[in-house]
Amino acid sequence: MSASASRPYDGGCTCSQVRYRMTTKPLFVHCCHCRWCQRETGAAFALNAMIEAERVELLQGAVQVVDTPSNSGKGQRISRCPKCHVAVWSNYAGGGDAVRFVRVGTLDEPDRLPPDVHIFTASKQPWVMLPPNTPAVEEYYKAVELWPPDSLARRAALLAARAKR
Ligand SMILES: [Zn+2]
Ligand SMILES: [Zn+2]
Repeated sequence: MSASASRPYDGGCTCSQVRYRMTTKPLFVHCCHCRWCQRETGAAFALNAMIEAERVELLQGAVQVVDTPSNSGKGQRISRCPKCHVAVWSNYAGGGDAVRFVRVGTLDEPDRLPPDVHIFTASKQPWVMLPPNTPAVEEYYKAVELWPPDSLARRAALLAARAKR
């Protein structure tokens, strides 16, 4: 592992009450162009780093969890700073509590995590130009098709742990 990839990924909210650390690199980074993400960010897309919940440590403060409707109809739980209300990560029904979607824009060094895939490009805002070398799909994809082997192994461990519960 390179020195850069082994360095933790620290981040936090705007008022600095909430500080967190991703202890390793994420499983995969989604750039989502769906209308729901556009509305929630007030921008053209959301940038989320998927990572095992146990690899995210709260360094300072506590998060307030807000139940929010989602595209799937099953909802997502968005963790926000209780003071400035900036969202730092969310959990979706599909991945349950075991997987967090960390908002890349809240990292101190967001440049370290560019998208691994662009999803829901069917509703991409037309002025957004996608880079030619990053996979892009109109809706969603299967992890086995795009994730690197080490991320797939981590995913298998998560699914095995869930099956045991
Ligand atoms: Zn805050
Ligand atoms: Zn989305």
